[in-house]
Amino acid sequence: MKAVQYVEVGSAPVVVDIPKPTPGPGQVLLKVTAAGVCHSDIAVMSWTAEQLPFPLPLTLGHEGAGIVAEVGDGVRAVKAGDAVAVYGPWGCGMCLECAQGKENYCLRADELGIRPPGLGAPGAIAEYLLVDHERHLVPLDGLDPVETVPLTDAGLTPYHAIKKSLPKLLPGSTAVVIGTGGLGHVGIQLLRAMTAARVIALDVTEDKLALAREVGAHDTVISDAGAAKKIKDMTGGLGAEVVLDFVGAPPTVATAGASVRVEGDVTIVGLGGGTLAVGFGALPYEVSVMSPYWGSRSELIEVLDLARAGSVKVHVETYGIDEAPKAYERLHEGKIRGRAVILP
Ligand code: NAD
Ligand code: ZN
Ligand code: ZN
Repeated sequence: MKAVQYVEVGSAPVVVDIPKPTPGPGQVLLKVTAAGVCHSDIAVMSWTAEQLPFPLPLTLGHEGAGIVAEVGDGVRAVKAGDAVAVYGPWGCGMCLECAQGKENYCLRADELGIRPPGLGAPGAIAEYLLVDHERHLVPLDGLDPVETVPLTDAGLTPYHAIKKSLPKLLPGSTAVVIGTGGLGHVGIQLLRAMTAARVIALDVTEDKLALAREVGAHDTVISDAGAAKKIKDMTGGLGAEVVLDFVGAPPTVATAGASVRVEGDVTIVGLGGGTLAVGFGALPYEVSVMSPYWGSRSELIEVLDLARAGSVKVHVETYGIDEAPKAYERLHEGKIRGRAVILP
């Protein structure tokens, strides 16, 4: 089967031909219908050999959807022909976090060598994807796989981050979204669907800000050294209750810290390497700083329910599997509008 792999540290992803996997006991083989392209893959491909926590080659793609092709012994909850989305942050299924559906925070995944597809285990940008357990599958129940597949990460991750801050997102409050790409443009829609907050979106080009407004941002601001001052001006000098940073680079984290108000939340989702000092006096009183990772299984079900209700719609650019390396190039250059989705 065809698969898109990261083969060697520092090289571009390539299309290769590898054997089609066979499901073992408890496993499910999916014929992939759609796979999303996330900026985290670009972060992974920028790491040195020492930083990389898993061996290469790696089949990329941690957002996957497909049709059940074959099931291993003991699988009961899904059957051949079912259309499903894949919950990506696999855990042990047994520890206290996993028992609560928070496999993204599994306490034993490292020790047991359990890794998400596309981030250590073979990923979804391939004709077939082997899923370790039926519990990682959520029925699509009529949702379109192409528009839905980004919700497994670009939807689930902002949903989880926003849910944590819901008590602060009352009517009259302000939420700032920094970076309106794959995650950010879904985050804006989730904020509009889940809260009455005013949404101010930041990005580096007018084109990206146009998408932000199209998907529901009330106001947009170019992300530069003057952005925090503008946000303060727009909030009566107080700042925003919640700042979600989907870039996480040193300048955006600085903007986040300078635009949050007393008792607000700063949530750093992006992997841009920025850090925020939190000692007494470094930030307004009682600001919480969080750095969440992905979301829980139950939250993925909730996000798909929101999509079914028509509350979120991902903007997708589609590519065939042979064009996947080009999609990564365009993402790296900041040229994707919304999310790139590969149709293997
Ligand atoms: P993306 O490339 O689709 O979107 C990033 C957006 O940020 C683009 O629109 C880009 O123009 C904008 N941007 C770049 N520099 C900026 C700046 N200085 N100020 C404002 N905007 C800027 O990326 P994505 O797939 O949405 O991922 C976003 C980030 O989130 C990445 O760092 C990714 O690795 C990370 N991520 C984290 C998690 C998690 O669980 N914490 C999950 C998924 C992705
Ligand atoms: Zn991702
Ligand atoms: Zn666990």
